[in-house]
Amino acid sequence: MPDLMEQITSLAKRRGIVFPSSEIYGGLRSSWDYGPLGVELKRNVKDAWWRAMVQLRDDVVGLDAAIIMSPKVWEASGHLEVFTDPLVECRNCHQRFRADDLQGEPKTCPNCGNHTFTDARNFNLMFRTHMGPVEDGAEDVYFRPETAQGMFVDFATVQQTSRRKVPFGIAQIGKAFRNEITPGNFIFRMREFEQMEMEFFVKPGTDEQWHDYWIQERLRWFTDLGVRPDNLRLREHDADELSHYSKRTVDIEYRFPFTDWGELEGIANRTDYDLKAHERHSGEDLTYFDPETEERYHPFVIEPAVGVDRAILTFLIDAYRVEEAPTAKGGTEKRTLLALHKDLAPIKAAVLPLSRNERLVPAAREVFDLLKPHWMCDYDDAGSIGRRYRRQDEVGTPFCVTVDFDTLDDRAVTIRDRDSMTQERIPVASLVEHLRERL
Ligand code: ATP
Repeated sequence: MPDLMEQITSLAKRRGIVFPSSEIYGGLRSSWDYGPLGVELKRNVKDAWWRAMVQLRDDVVGLDAAIIMSPKVWEASGHLEVFTDPLVECRNCHQRFRADDLQGEPKTCPNCGNHTFTDARNFNLMFRTHMGPVEDGAEDVYFRPETAQGMFVDFATVQQTSRRKVPFGIAQIGKAFRNEITPGNFIFRMREFEQMEMEFFVKPGTDEQWHDYWIQERLRWFTDLGVRPDNLRLREHDADELSHYSKRTVDIEYRFPFTDWGELEGIANRTDYDLKAHERHSGEDLTYFDPETEERYHPFVIEPAVGVDRAILTFLIDAYRVEEAPTAKGGTEKRTLLALHKDLAPIKAAVLPLSRNERLVPAAREVFDLLKPHWMCDYDDAGSIGRRYRRQDEVGTPFCVTVDFDTLDDRAVTIRDRDSMTQERIPVASLVEHLRERL
């Protein structure tokens, strides 16, 4: 499906999931806003990650570090020096591109078709601003380009206060900023985005096993949430592609429609690079003392790092279907479906009164009131019931609960399943229990 991205971008906009930021001013190419349904989807993705990475484990704790950290952090981490992309400028139209993005031989400007460019120069991807009222450069600070450094600089404090023993991890979800030269492909590459990263501190020598362990865990997270295994693969970084801190990196790649395979998540063995670098620059001891073996060492670090937005894009693409569905009149019609995993679906159940008849409304409201303390629910009474089913299918709502005139007598409702479209009559008294089992 070549126009799949167009269909998903258009659905996302039409239904208020994700749309361009500041649109009344023409938008800002690399910034996107999450609307009412998108914000639920995003929370669900982050909750699913937190649950798997922190809540269900006894060896990972959470952190919420500041976005603007001491500039010395970026000096120590190497970001000031090497967090760069090669940038070239077209000699004709003066547009700038990432050198490795230019296609063809000779290289061709995607904007004007010209073939001559300036030499590549390194462009630092960090956003810089200043802190405080003086703008003389002395107080220059940076918006973090990754959340990881928070876990390294807080390593000793978190380890001591949470009294964790190695191996253990620190997890964080938060915004990161990169002044990408070529943002694009909807929310695949943005300048302001969110990351979910976990730094897992291990004894040197056990790092390779832990790395393999986390690669499998992270792959399983995506398939458990319904991503089709055929659309995922692992890719080993070549030696010349490894980041300055990495001994080995494996990407989880997804079959994105615009790149074929593209990075979804990176799982790196960052060695003891970061802790040692911060120890050198800060003068603080960042070793770990193992009380059992009485050894002191710098732990190695295994890092699974994934973008929230890129994960959302993956879930949307993977769940998007257009099917022929039977109509009430015996024909068929196209239905658009987001077959999202129930944990990710923005709305878990929609309550639909058969009509706006005044006898039905109180009963339908009652059912809505019954469900909303448990799940995000929707109440929709606009249009034919068929249209309302389609509207819910399109945003991935697993269950529609229909209240009809029989409900007034038998105190039961009809539950329609999104994927099979089968319907079942359930007493209102056991509705919550029934949905809880299926959700
Ligand atoms: P890429 O090669 O695509 O630029 P990267 O290797 O620089 O990515 P990492 O530094 O490993 O990315 O960041 C970890 C994860 O954060 C990526 O796998 C991706 O999911 C997400 N990510 C990185 N940059 C962006 C961005 N500009 N917009 C959205 N998500 C991003």
